[in-house]
Amino acid sequence: MILINEDWCKGCQICITRCPVDALEESDKLNRRGVRPPKLKENNRCNFCRLCELLCPDLAITVIPDEETKEKPKKTLRPPIVSVRSIGRNIK
Ligand code: SF4
Ligand code: SF4
Repeated sequence: MILINEDWCKGCQICITRCPVDALEESDKLNRRGVRPPKLKENNRCNFCRLCELLCPDLAITVIPDEETKEKPKKTLRPPIVSVRSIGRNIK
């Protein structure tokens, strides 16, 4: 997931031109500063390298790898409590 604070963007395009997999492009709409912020392309190959986040001079981009946003499965069942004695009885 790439979070872009569109109104913080000044349209320098560093993120767009430096992305190693060409995953970003200009948005169609203007932000409050009158420039077009970046957006992810359709079918992009973003690998969450975070280069755009590091290079943005206005801190407008936050990269969160998809694995971190997926909900982890909850453990709902506890393992059964079995005493050593009861196991011994069943074996006989
Ligand atoms: S590097 Fe930052 S300020 Fe420059 S275009 Fe990208 S988001 Fe906007
Ligand atoms: S995280 Fe890396 S691959 Fe993804 S858009 Fe930013 S620079 Fe490109």
